[in-house]
Amino acid sequence: MARRKKVYEGKAKILYEGPEPGTLVQYFKDDATAFNAEKRDVIDGKGVLNNRLSEFFMTGLNAIGVPTHFIRRINMREQLIRSVEIIPLEVVVRNFAAGSISKRLGIDEGTPLPRPIVEFYYKDDDLGDPLVTEEHVIAFGWASQQDMDDMVALALRVNDFISGVMMGVGIRLIDFKIEIGRIWDNDFQRLIVADEISPDSCRLWDIKTGERLDKDVFRRDLGNLADAYTEVARRLGVLPMNAAPITKPTLIN
Ligand code: UDP
Repeated sequence: MARRKKVYEGKAKILYEGPEPGTLVQYFKDDATAFNAEKRDVIDGKGVLNNRLSEFFMTGLNAIGVPTHFIRRINMREQLIRSVEIIPLEVVVRNFAAGSISKRLGIDEGTPLPRPIVEFYYKDDDLGDPLVTEEHVIAFGWASQQDMDDMVALALRVNDFISGVMMGVGIRLIDFKIEIGRIWDNDFQRLIVADEISPDSCRLWDIKTGERLDKDVFRRDLGNLADAYTEVARRLGVLPMNAAPITKPTLIN
């Protein structure tokens, strides 16, 4: 039997060669990691939920004219995407303080920020993805000045879209991370949203209760991660209200 070619395996996803040139198949694993993979576990059903949630956000972005790599979902765990040249930066947008900015600058988690703050982290696991400035990005050639302007514009559009969608279902978008890729349309280069948008890469707090509905549930041992992601999917209508849980029932003895 022919075996498809694995192009890349990361912490939460695998990329396989796609059916046509310029495409890849993105497979969502159930693996959860945090703190640069020092904490790890397998969360039953997480990959299925993130495949659906990333599809939901990327489809919405495509529909409002924000280009993404998403083409179509193939099955429960896989989606067809455009192959891109990933810019080696994590682009983080923050609306409220939480996580590393709270620690670094001593701001209480949940404090509203005066305006959305866009940050860049250099993607390098050995260095622990350090925060970098535009000066570093341009001096080291990771992206050009034009790319930086385009990335900020893209990230802010993604922020407005996801903030609005989540607000509609009673969830506050605290912050998120995206990755951006380069594609070539004939002689023209374009930047598009790549990787994934899911509760693995966002902070999502219930507006009324402040309950965490994102990967902090795993990072901080706050409960069952798949239940939190299922709640996000249900509210967004990605899973029907009465759908059976994707996770296996816990056996009670
Ligand atoms: N984030 C991510 N991958 C990373 C680092 C951060 O998806 O490797 C997301 C994280 O889930 C949060 C946002 O980016 O939504 C900001 O993360 P922060 O800098 O506060 O880092 P953390 O506290 O997660 O270490």
